Amino acid sequence: MSGEIAGGCLCGAVRYVASGPVVNARVCHCHLCQRAIGAAFNARLLFRRADVEISGPVAEHASSEAIQRGFCPRCGTTIYSHRVAAGMIGLTSGSLDNPAQFVPEAHIFVESKQPWVVLDPVIPAYPGAAPA
Ligand SMILES: [Zn+2]
Ligand SMILES: [Zn+2]
Repeated sequence: MSGEIAGGCLCGAVRYVASGPVVNARVCHCHLCQRAIGAAFNARLLFRRADVEISGPVAEHASSEAIQRGFCPRCGTTIYSHRVAAGMIGLTSGSLDNPAQFVPEAHIFVESKQPWVVLDPVIPAYPGAAPA
């Protein structure tokens, strides 16, 4: 992954810039992600929260005790899932200025994958969370 990683929401009110290295690039097929994103999966780039600067009026919803989902309250674009205790934030690939910067390294929670989503057999896929 190279080049600055920046992005934002559809209306432009929320912007972010990531300065640190990408921790991982995974596609999550869990039901919570499907619902939160409003799509079949969540392709997200994971960073340390401290490495991402976010500006604008982000609203949050706690989809579980561990995860805050951030979105633009004006246009509704889903921006991130923030694992607060771990200090990690997953930026949605669709909100990147250059979505091609997202290259999937693994698929996770494929036990709840939609059946019409066909995975590349070269990319590791795990029924639940990726092994530590
Ligand atoms: Zn917006
Ligand atoms: Zn998920």
